[in-house]
Amino acid sequence: MRFADIPGNEELKKTLVSMADSGRIPHALMLYENEGCGALALALAYVQYINCTGRKDGDSCGECPSCRVMSRLVHPDTYFIFPVNASRKTDVRKPLSESFLDIWRELVLSNPYFIESDLYNALGIEGKSGVIAIAEAKYILEKLSLSPVGDGYKSVLLWLPEKMNQETANKLLKVVEEPPDKTQFIFITHNPDRVLQTVFSRCQNYRVMPLTKEERAKTASVSPEEREEYAEFMAVFRKLMEGVMARDLQTVLDSADMMSALDSKEKQKGFCIFAAEAVRKIFLCRHGLSETADIPDSEKPFYDEVSKKAGKAFCARIIPVIDRSAMLLDRNVNQKMVFCDLAGQMFLNF
Ligand SMILES: [Zn+2]
Repeated sequence: MRFADIPGNEELKKTLVSMADSGRIPHALMLYENEGCGALALALAYVQYINCTGRKDGDSCGECPSCRVMSRLVHPDTYFIFPVNASRKTDVRKPLSESFLDIWRELVLSNPYFIESDLYNALGIEGKSGVIAIAEAKYILEKLSLSPVGDGYKSVLLWLPEKMNQETANKLLKVVEEPPDKTQFIFITHNPDRVLQTVFSRCQNYRVMPLTKEERAKTASVSPEEREEYAEFMAVFRKLMEGVMARDLQTVLDSADMMSALDSKEKQKGFCIFAAEAVRKIFLCRHGLSETADIPDSEKPFYDEVSKKAGKAFCARIIPVIDRSAMLLDRNVNQKMVFCDLAGQMFLNF
């Protein structure tokens, strides 16, 4: 992957290139993005650039031996860690990222803009959450203790550090803070608030900006509206808000039932992400920024109405409630309780 292959985020590309050119490569970098904005593509281009022996005009050459292995994701000094779980696609009872490397490579090479649920589908763990277990941390420490194969950098690309539990993070902390010579960690998160603070604070952090429509059209990235669940999520959210606006508690509780009936935990968490984004749109509309909110025409009347009726503090109060709901689902709290509480809070705080 070369920077030239990635539309958008020109400022961030310049920053990454200048860090590499000046030799000031941070030992830990955190890229954060909304799903599907290209953070992984940027990270891959950055690692390729760092190790390229024929850099020119702020990009890797794409042709040297290092670029060639990197472009197939088989660079011997680059390690990929991502959330996994037991799956019918591997015999390993407690699999690690390593157990799924072929699937990972295929997914990344076909579309580096994939989202979390795409990964779980590819891994065959649909319906379960992926985790980054302590055994992954042990694996990384072991790999980093070996001498590098090439003379470039050793890179650990860790996708979704929010999926590490405390134990895993603790095990990694010291090496993230003081890695061996010419070693770097690159973390990509969709949820910086849920990355353990001890890890987050040790990284240089950069935001990957959302793509414009034109930029997105040049990638394999699927916009939120084109995703399969979108219509279903929107129907549930509409029902919820209609009940809230009409002060009709029964309709609100019916919408909570629809949320609990979404057919997997991942989908239920997906709805939480959707709802948080929808409330953000309401916030922008309330402040006369509906253009920035990028609302499809068919939904404009709905967002107009909700934003006119919503109380001043609604958005600020509700976003943390939605985040907490997603967290409780992750902790296997009963989904009916979670969604009943979420719907109730929306009703009370509107
Ligand atoms: Zn090269």
